[in-house]
Amino acid sequence: MVKRDSSYIELFDESIRGLFKDALRISLNDPGMALFLRRTIKWQAQAARVRAAWEEKGLHVPAFMIASITHRCNLQCSGCYARAHHRPVEEEMNNAELRSVVAEASELGISIVLLAGGEPLARPEILNITRDFPRIIFPLFTNGLLLDSAAIVKLKGQRNVIPVISMEGEETETDARRGKGVYRRLQGVIADLHGERIFFGTSITVTQRNFDLVTDERFIGGLFARGCRLFFFIDYVPVEEGTDDLVLTEAQRAQEAEAILSLRANFPGLFVAFPGGEEEFGGCLAAGRGFVHLSPEGRVEPCPFSLLISLRGDRTGERVDVRRSEVKRCTKQLIWRIEPSHR
Ligand code: SF4
Repeated sequence: MVKRDSSYIELFDESIRGLFKDALRISLNDPGMALFLRRTIKWQAQAARVRAAWEEKGLHVPAFMIASITHRCNLQCSGCYARAHHRPVEEEMNNAELRSVVAEASELGISIVLLAGGEPLARPEILNITRDFPRIIFPLFTNGLLLDSAAIVKLKGQRNVIPVISMEGEETETDARRGKGVYRRLQGVIADLHGERIFFGTSITVTQRNFDLVTDERFIGGLFARGCRLFFFIDYVPVEEGTDDLVLTEAQRAQEAEAILSLRANFPGLFVAFPGGEEEFGGCLAAGRGFVHLSPEGRVEPCPFSLLISLRGDRTGERVDVRRSEVKRCTKQLIWRIEPSHR
C-alpha cells in the first residue's frame, strides 16, 4: 500500500466549508436560499465525516467528482477538449448507470458533483437524477443555450443544481470561440435565470488574450449586476496544436491569484480558480486527492484532461472501469494507483 500525505485534507475540507459559508453570507437577503445553504453546510459536514471514516479504514475518498456525462454538444467551439475525444454516443453510460454512480459516490461521502460534458444538458434527463440527490451540490457547467423554460422550471425546484455558464469575455471574445450570436443569446438566458432568482455562475476560460479583460472589475461588475454570483476562472489547457501561446504566463498566473483576492474583497460573490490552491494543498488536487473525473463511458480518470494523460489504471496497463456500480472499488484502486505518479 502506498503511504500518502493526507495532511491537506482538513485544509481542503475547511476551504469547502468556507465557500458555502461565503455563499450563505451573500444570500442572506434570499430566505429560501439561505435556508437551503444552512442545510447544505450541515450536509457537507456530514459528508466530510463519512469521508474521514473511510480514510480511517484506509480508503481515501475525494470531496469532488467531475462527471462528464456526454461528449455531445450543440456547439462547435474551437479548442474544445470534449470534442477531441471522438467517442460514440452508444458507449455513454445510460441513465441507470449514471444514477447508480451518483448514488455510490454519495454513499462514499462525495458531496459535490460537477456536471460537465460535452454539453450536459444534451442529456436533459440529468435533472431528474439530480432531483433525487438534494444533499449533493451539482454545479452544472453548461454553454447555456439549452437552458430553456422547461430546464429553468426544474432548476427553480432544485437549489442544489447551480448553472455555471461558459463564456470567454464580452461578445467579441465569446463569439470568436463559440460562434456568432452566442453571447447575445446568453444574455437572454442570464436574464431569465436572474428573473427567476436562480443562483447561477459563469465559467471563464482564461487565456493570455482575454486575461486583462476577464480579471477586470468592470467585466466582473457587469456580470455581477446581471445577477451572477459565482465565478470560475479556468486556466486554458492546450488541447489543440498551435495554441500554446494562449496558455497563461507565470506572471499572469501570479497576477490571477492577486486579481481574485481583489475581486473577493470588492464583490460579494464566490470566486474559484481552477486549478487553484496547488501550493496551499501540497500539489495537484486531481487523481483523487481532491477530485476524480468520470468520463461519459464511466471510466474513472485523474482529471478532465486525462485524454492527454492516457490513463491506464495500474502498472499492468489495465484500464480502470467504473461501469455497473464499481465506483467504490474503482475509487479505491484509482487513488492508490495514480496519486503518487500524478503529483
Ligand atoms: S460548449 Fe463546451 S463542449 Fe460544447 S463545443 Fe464548446 S467547449 Fe466544447
